[in-house]
Amino acid sequence: MNAMHSISGDAAPLGVAVLGATGSIGENTLDVIARHPQRFSVVAVAAHRNVAKLKAQCLQFKPRFAAMADVDAARQLRQELTAAGLNTEVLAGAAALDELAAHPEVHSVMAAIVGAAGLSSTLAAARAGKRILLANKESLVMSGPLFMNEVRAGGAQLIPIDSEHNAIFQCLPAEGSRGGVKRLLLTASGGPFLRSSAEQLAMVTPDQACAHPRWNMGRKISVDSASLMNKGLELIEASLLFDMPAERIQVVVHPQSIVHSLVEYLDGSVLAQLGNPDMRTPIACGLSWPERVSAGVESLDLIRAGRLEFEAPDLQRFPCLRLAQQAAAAGGSAPAVLNAANEVAVAAFLNGQLWFNGIPSLIAAVLDAHAIEAVTSLEHVLELDRWAREQAGLLLRSGAYGTNVMSNVVCTSGVSA
Ligand code: NAD
Ligand code: MG
Repeated sequence: MNAMHSISGDAAPLGVAVLGATGSIGENTLDVIARHPQRFSVVAVAAHRNVAKLKAQCLQFKPRFAAMADVDAARQLRQELTAAGLNTEVLAGAAALDELAAHPEVHSVMAAIVGAAGLSSTLAAARAGKRILLANKESLVMSGPLFMNEVRAGGAQLIPIDSEHNAIFQCLPAEGSRGGVKRLLLTASGGPFLRSSAEQLAMVTPDQACAHPRWNMGRKISVDSASLMNKGLELIEASLLFDMPAERIQVVVHPQSIVHSLVEYLDGSVLAQLGNPDMRTPIACGLSWPERVSAGVESLDLIRAGRLEFEAPDLQRFPCLRLAQQAAAAGGSAPAVLNAANEVAVAAFLNGQLWFNGIPSLIAAVLDAHAIEAVTSLEHVLELDRWAREQAGLLLRSGAYGTNVMSNVVCTSGVSA
């Protein structure tokens, strides 16, 4: 990667590109950056099509570049910024995001686009040797070892922002001395339906699924948290990031979301990272690593927290986690197919086209129709992604998975902001 700038003292601020700036992680990233104008500067913001929010961010941070994947939205943003007298250059289309991720003025790339749409720009950051602050777990899950190879070949630095993986990153010894690690323990809040019966689960609505008890997140990851697919994707993510076989990663439900994950060593030591559930902690950690900066996060009050509980996940009520465990064990093309089928299923659930229980059924049906194979190239990954989306779409339209079964449910928004 580029020569590491010092972030202390009077060195020039580190340039950051925030991809997915209008989302929950993007906004939290900008919140942390705004607290440290001497250390970090926003070189670029990028999002899908939320013009009003990206415009407000441009007015506040005055980045050199702004990009919108949606071309019409970009045109509108350009007009509005010009009218406001701002000289931020507005770029349009998905390729513009790749360009910004690799821009020479950018030191760190916050990869916070949701879903497979984030793959291309995250890979561009890897190839350009940037510090990648990885929130977009789907891009890693779908491209697996190929992604990690790109990171190594490009000389990039990958810092996980997903709170669990950031916790493990903090608890692991320095690179090169991983021999003493026995296993990883990945905590899960259990989501809003932790105590719901199978009958209740069958009836839940998108808004109930998105009302997470501990974390305020985008709608896609909220549904993933409710189905435990989020933990399944995170299991695959952890296995890839930390080069650890899935059978040495234990998922532990911890409803308080205070212990963010743990590393067990051969000698019996178990190190954990704790903190209030606030994504600004891992974001600030990634931005400033190996230094530490304030993130606006309240101090953890263990006495007020009182009780920290742990339990096993229920794979009967939450079959998505089992499907992901199977895909992790199978490897090859299975995670990419799982991820794509899940994206289609979650979008259908959010649009009122699929019951909550239909999510795992649809994913299982797509996986059943797929013969797992070795993944040979990134083109192959994209082809698998396309095939699985098409297959899921066909199954949905066939009616077997409940098309329009929830037409009485009013859904306010889709997967992307
Ligand atoms: P979000 O829905 O709030 O935001 C998504 C962002 O992606 C928006 O800025 C949107 O404009 C952008 N986007 C969507 N489709 C796009 C496209 N086709 N091209 C360009 N930009 C596009 O989601 P979020 O909760 O911020 O999550 C973002 C990522 O971070 C996800 O991969 C999620 O799994 C991961 N993550 C989120 C949290 C959290 O607390 N929110 C925690 C851990 C990991
Ligand atoms: Mg997480």
